[in-house]
This record gives sequence, C-alpha cells and structure tokens, in this order.
Amino acid sequence: MVLTLYNTLSREKEEFKPIKEEVGMYCCGPTVYHFAHIGNLRSYIFEDVLKRTLLFNDFKVKHVINITDVGHLTSDSDTGEDKMLKGAKRENKTVWEIAEFYTHAFKSDIKKLNILEPNVWSKATEHIKEQIALIQRLEKNGFTYFAGGNVYFDTSKLKDYGKLARLDLDAETKSRVEEDQNKKHPYDFVLWFTKSKFQDQEMKWASPWGEGYPGWHIECSAMSMHYLGEQFDIHCGGIDHIPVHHTNEIAQAEAATGKKPWVRYWLHNEFLVLNQGEKMAKSGDNFFTLSVLEEKGYSPLDYRYFCLGISYRKPLMFSWEAMASAKNACKRLYDKVLELKEDESGEENKEKQIEYLEKFTSEINDDLNTSKALATLWEVVKDDNLSNNDKLFLILRFDKVLGLGLKQLQKEKIPLMVIELAEERLVARRTKNWKRSDELRDEINSLGYTIGDTVDGYDLKKE
Ligand code: AMP
Ligand code: ZN
Repeated sequence: MVLTLYNTLSREKEEFKPIKEEVGMYCCGPTVYHFAHIGNLRSYIFEDVLKRTLLFNDFKVKHVINITDVGHLTSDSDTGEDKMLKGAKRENKTVWEIAEFYTHAFKSDIKKLNILEPNVWSKATEHIKEQIALIQRLEKNGFTYFAGGNVYFDTSKLKDYGKLARLDLDAETKSRVEEDQNKKHPYDFVLWFTKSKFQDQEMKWASPWGEGYPGWHIECSAMSMHYLGEQFDIHCGGIDHIPVHHTNEIAQAEAATGKKPWVRYWLHNEFLVLNQGEKMAKSGDNFFTLSVLEEKGYSPLDYRYFCLGISYRKPLMFSWEAMASAKNACKRLYDKVLELKEDESGEENKEKQIEYLEKFTSEINDDLNTSKALATLWEVVKDDNLSNNDKLFLILRFDKVLGLGLKQLQKEKIPLMVIELAEERLVARRTKNWKRSDELRDEINSLGYTIGDTVDGYDLKKE
C-alpha cells in the first residue's frame, strides 16, 4: 500500500519512495544539559511511530539520533549563554559530567516510552574530525569567511538559501536586529568558534583555524552524511528547527557536496503546548519531565497514548484532565488485552482480519494518522463479529506501529500480602463485620489495588 508523508520541503503530502533499499533516517537529538521535557519527548514518539510505520511497510531502516553534547548557545542566532556551561554551573559539575548524566537520563526516558533504539547514537564530541572536514570542504568551495576569530558560512553564496522555511530574505533581513558584528549578512552563521564569547569554555579542540569548538548546525550535517551518505531519505525534528537549524544544515550539506536535494523528505512535529498555546520549553519554568508524570501516577505509556490521540502536525494541548483520560483509556485497553490473552478462543475470520488490516494500514500510511488508527483499534476491541483470536491477532499487529507494549503485557502477580488482606476481608464479610471489611478495603486500596465482590469471593485488580 502507498505510504504518503507530509514533506515540509514541498508543503505537500508525497508518496514515499526511498533512494535505496535501506531507508536512511536522521533525527535531531537532545541537547544534554538538562532533562528532556515531555514536549521534547513528543518529537521522539512521533519519530518512533514514523520508523515503526516504515518497518510495518517492510522497509529496512537505518536510524540515527545525535546527542548534542558540545556547548551551544541558548539563542539560535549565535548569541546567548552556552547551554552546557549553564548546566555545569547550575549543578556544580564539569560539562562532561553534565553531558554524561543527561545522555543517560534521555536514553532511560526513551526506553520507558517504548521507543525503538536507533541503529546509531552519534555524539557530537566524538565526531569533531568529521565536522572539521566538512568545514574544510565548504572553505574549499568558497562558502566561508573568517571574521573576528570565527569561521562563518556565507549565506549570500548559496542561491536557494532558506528554501525549507521559505524565508523572504529581503523582508526578514530588514526586521532582524543584528547582534554579531562579524557577520556579513544577517543569516550567516558560525561554523567554528575560536574566539569564544566564554573564556571558561571547557570543551575545545585543535583545528586548522585555531583551538575552539564547532557551531551548532555543522554536527548534524557532518554526522548524518557520515552514517547515511551524501544524500538520504528522511530528516526529522520539531517545527522550531525549520527556519534556522535545518535551514543551515541544508545549506552546509548542499554547498559542500553540490548534490540536491540533500534530504528527500523533511518531517516536523508541532509543539506540545500549555494553557494559552504557550510552547513547553526547557528555557522556561513551565516544563515537566517524564518523572513528574510518573510521580503523579501516570505511566510513560499513558503519555505515549496521549500523544497518539492527535496528528503529529497539530499542536497538542497538555492538561492533567487529558492525561487522566489517556490513562483511563490505556487501562481499559490493557484490561481487554489481558482478557483476550487469557481466552484466545474462536474461529479465525481471515476476511475480516484483512479488512481491518487494510483499514489500519491506509490510516497510518496517510501521513501517520494515529488518531484514526487508534479509533480502528477500539473498533476491533468492540466488534462482536470478531473472535477473541481475531481480535488479539489484529491488536498485536496494530501495536507494532502504536508501540503501547501490548505484546509484553502480562497479568501482574498480586503480592501475597494483598491476597491475605483480601482473604481476611472475605471472612469479615461472611461474618457481617462490615466495619472491618471497609478498613481492609481501604488498606488494599492504599497498596494500589481495587477489590470487588463476586458470587464466589472477590476480584482483585491493580489500580
Ligand atoms: P532540544 O533538546 O531542545 O534540542 O530539542 C529536542 C527536540 O524537541 C527537537 O526536535 C525540538 O524541535 C523538539 N521540541 C522542543 N520543544 C518542543 C515542544 N514543546 N513540543 C514538541 N517538540 C519540542
Ligand atoms: Zn540537528
């Protein structure tokens, strides 16, 4: 079945056709100076659904995520504070310790969200050589200049600079306040810093231009080409990357190789937003981590379910009410799947299976329409014409894309202590000791279980 994806480059849904057998997919990873917030994590959930959809369609995928561990500036226009240094000062650690700690924390979040590991994790600090080589190529092709101790990319040399974001260079140039006096044109950007604005910069490397460190954008062009070749299929990130980071990545790659387009399909997710449409951001004080959700009793997969409820191209409004209903729906789904796993009986209806599989595939292949795909999953759950056998087969197939961990789902063993309380409560009820029975129910609830009465005893469930 045809897979169509919305390509930011053309602003249209396009049929996906890979360059070669194995799809090359690069996703801009985290800057590891703080925990990822759940907005950042929305990006990686969307990218995971994209990757799973490619696999579902029998494509092979080589997936690369970078770890931005070189210190970059808090502003996109090469100004502001160095993010890694900011983290180091905040925690009284070295920048290397900060990078290691938050890389580990990020990988742990990804795992909890059932996001498939990439084939390659590429750290910026481990690819300085590739970044320097790419800058040298740009230098040789005449796209750079040296000013104030730094190497800059000269955007005026590239005819189609800004095509991804459709920048109106004249109009926007006028309205932009220039902060770096070394730049010849407002959109020029730093490829290599030697004159750091920060004398206490810890991360420095030798280079043909002097000891220093790379600009932000060069790492992604260099590492993606290193692992995926000079032209590849898919590049992803949040929409904030369109006007600066991805625009500059394209400029660097196409100016170095002369091959266009560098990347065939550009996919971007919209933001996770709060109350007034305000973006969740690491720099603000309005961000939550996955641990905050967990502390409030939500599992990471509840959050994944919440994200699947709307297209990745629409802003997603966060609220605790919405989280609660995602948790509820997830719980109902898990209960249903456990029930089906206990009783997989029934005839197979191949025709019905194919009908539902085609429906689901056409939805997910329509630019990852996860909300419709979820609705189809619920249709299967409720369809009386399907046997348990058919239902389980279909649900587990769908979950290869949705990634809600349904295959691994097993009835949790209830701790002995809870069973003993339930048994004691049963005796209390049989002797009509209602007060004791209520006390025991409260105790069971406080341990995270609910208890209901049945004809022959009780029914214990994890809350
Ligand atoms: P960073 O760690 O800041 O480089 O961001 C990692 C990813 O999260 C990037 O792809 C960003 O575009 C994306 N991102 C940042 N804020 C949000 C948000 N509020 N909602 C969704 N994605 C976001
Ligand atoms: Zn990037």
